[in-house]
Amino acid sequence: MDDQRRTDGGIDDARIETRAIHAGQEPDPETGALMTPIHANSTYEQDGPGDHRGFEYSRTGNPTRTDLEENLASLESGSHARCFASGMGAINTVLNLLSAGDHVVAGDDVYGGTHRILTQVYDQYDIETTFVDTTDLDAVREAVREETALIWIETPTNPLMNVNDIAALSSIAADADALCAVDNTFATPYLQRPLEHGADIVVQSLTKYLGGHSDVIGGALIVDDADLDERLGFYQNSVGATPGPFDCFLVLRGTKTLPVRMDRHCENAAALAEWLDAHEDVDRVYYPGLDSHPQHELAAEQMDDFGGMLSFAFDGTLEEASTVVRETEVFTLAESLGGVESLIEQPAAMTHAAIPREERLAAGLTDGLIRVSVGIEHIEDLKKDLQTAFEAARE
Ligand SMILES: *Cc1c(COP(=O)(O)O)cnc(C)c1O
Repeated sequence: MDDQRRTDGGIDDARIETRAIHAGQEPDPETGALMTPIHANSTYEQDGPGDHRGFEYSRTGNPTRTDLEENLASLESGSHARCFASGMGAINTVLNLLSAGDHVVAGDDVYGGTHRILTQVYDQYDIETTFVDTTDLDAVREAVREETALIWIETPTNPLMNVNDIAALSSIAADADALCAVDNTFATPYLQRPLEHGADIVVQSLTKYLGGHSDVIGGALIVDDADLDERLGFYQNSVGATPGPFDCFLVLRGTKTLPVRMDRHCENAAALAEWLDAHEDVDRVYYPGLDSHPQHELAAEQMDDFGGMLSFAFDGTLEEASTVVRETEVFTLAESLGGVESLIEQPAAMTHAAIPREERLAAGLTDGLIRVSVGIEHIEDLKKDLQTAFEAARE
């Protein structure tokens, strides 16, 4: 594995905090500029027909993007990475590997955009998906068919923070000659590296923690297999959902501080989870770091810490929970996650509003459910903000 790694500078063996800053990034050989330049450029001079210096055209490859791809490959313990204009662009490229007649098994609580592209886009190309509870390994085994070519999971999932067993699901996929793709957006490579547990493809929405500052949309695929990377590269170039160099630069800025940001996200989320767990206005807290979480032990094995995302069931009606999310001042009412600032949202009225109420309740998405992306502000300000909002909802 290591000899395939494209990262240079002798830092392959360094710890992730060091690789986050240095992997894929060397001072510019011409000017000595420390930071990767923004190569705002479409085409490249050739010394003779076909005789170029590694780059021909920026859809196919751009030096700023290459530095980001090498950085991400290193962080995810992979050999290669490919970047895209959005997380959905990355997800689409995995699905480009499939052919008509193929079958997909996916978690029944995957990201809404993933559910939509499977059921409303790939469905029309005769690629069928079975959605199952991927925490139930027998249910996954039963859903697998002769034609199954891909098992798709997320962990932790949104918004109930279910934790899926990457090693077990990867081995079910391998037994079926299918690929296992893991959307690692919630955990990030700092907390969890699915390729080390046997997954074939890691998916990242760079928009979230890797960018980290809510100022860019991007996606990535990371693999540890040169042939698979080449197939993905073919679709990356053929479909063309590639990111511009400015966006790549922003994400490269973000990955340098990923470890320090994640440490604070985790510390704040753990403290907030405990505070909420003890709060009289809260029925239940969903956070993999709590002993009460159904897959707490698996999370402790598979992850290095428990992340910055949590949900809780506010003890109240849909309207009262709406008041809570409207009244917070430090937490901003918004979808998305993973930025330095805390965000709050109400799944029943926002991200999951399209699901019929009965179905939503059966899945545990109660009217009072509130999801937070815990930022890196001071923890006491976060608690105080929620306390004030809870009191407003009770008035
Ligand atoms: C946001 C998100 C995506 C999609 O990424 P975009 O950058 O918005 O296209 C995919 N998976 C998960 C888990 C996400 O949170």
